[in-house]
Amino acid sequence: MALKKDYYSLLGVTREASPEEIRKAFRRLAFRYHPDHNHHEGAAERFKEIVEAYQVLSNTDRRTTYDRLGHADDDRRFDGFGDFSAGLGDVFDAFFAGSIPVQRRTPQRGADIRCEVNTTFEEAVRGCRKEVEVVRMENCPRCLGSGCEPGTQPAACPDCNGIGEVRRSRHNVFGRFVNRAICSQCDGEGSVIIQPCTHCQGTGRRRTRSTVSVALPPGVKNHAQIKLPGQGETGARGGPPGELLIAVSVQEHECFKRDGNDIVYELPVDFTQAALGDDLKVPTIDGKVKLNIPPGTQSGTILRIKGKGIPFADRHARGDQLVRIRVVTPENLNADQRRLLTDLAQSLGKPRPRKRGRASTPPAGQGTPGPDR
Ligand SMILES: [Zn+2]
Ligand SMILES: [Zn+2]
Repeated sequence: MALKKDYYSLLGVTREASPEEIRKAFRRLAFRYHPDHNHHEGAAERFKEIVEAYQVLSNTDRRTTYDRLGHADDDRRFDGFGDFSAGLGDVFDAFFAGSIPVQRRTPQRGADIRCEVNTTFEEAVRGCRKEVEVVRMENCPRCLGSGCEPGTQPAACPDCNGIGEVRRSRHNVFGRFVNRAICSQCDGEGSVIIQPCTHCQGTGRRRTRSTVSVALPPGVKNHAQIKLPGQGETGARGGPPGELLIAVSVQEHECFKRDGNDIVYELPVDFTQAALGDDLKVPTIDGKVKLNIPPGTQSGTILRIKGKGIPFADRHARGDQLVRIRVVTPENLNADQRRLLTDLAQSLGKPRPRKRGRASTPPAGQGTPGPDR
């Protein structure tokens, strides 16, 4: 029996090395000495030795025998490309990028498009339909996306015979290697357009300005995003279209404010109305409705008008309108009014002037609303 080389030292590992350590060492050395990468003299011979060592040490049974006897149980030696597949396939795939199966060009999903739509407060509450203008790639209307002049057909690519990839074989000391690559003539599609569509120059797509109608649901919120699947850019090579993403921008209303699904409305009332009570007509999103101000209403009081708010998305119901009362203190009283109020003040038993900790009347301000609660 011929004296065998020390496979462990060939791979630069200890006799206790784990299979993973052996594998890593082999990968590192194989890269270094592979004849495709290393053209130094002796590299090919070294590469053969490394492969031989790895074939023994990576196999549990053969390694055990080798450890016991000092040589492998048989004389299988690395012998050209045919052996590469014997347990080495995954490792060798990494060396020959060209021999990894090529990824043929596949249909590509079209890009998403983003745009914005503006609505009034009322439109957002009730829901509405809006038109948005988008510029996007669409299938060419003349060739319906095929890229061929109508009445003509694509033909099988002469370079790859319709396969979409080309194979080139190389020979070296280890045998024959086959490289596969995408056909550059047809971009991997396997067919070529003989007579390109005059409308899209054979691309099958055209940049087009289109109007898209979008339904905004009742109660849509400011900054909400509406998705329209299939309304984005058309895909390449027959891929599906992208989405149209529409951001909703709701204008502010001059007197209504949104609070969740309620609408907040501030109602200024005269201090006599607040004291004596009154029936008033109050604007809502559905028109004016009657509202009773009970006697003795304080500034900041919130009165609720049921069902005049914003529709809920998930149920058949609406929020409320919240009417916040702001009591307005009269200014610029004439002499009569001043006398009446003085009498009232005396009747209420409140001496004047009355100093209160928190309120200091602004000199020329509007009636100061009470603290909001
Ligand atoms: Zn066309
Ligand atoms: Zn081709």
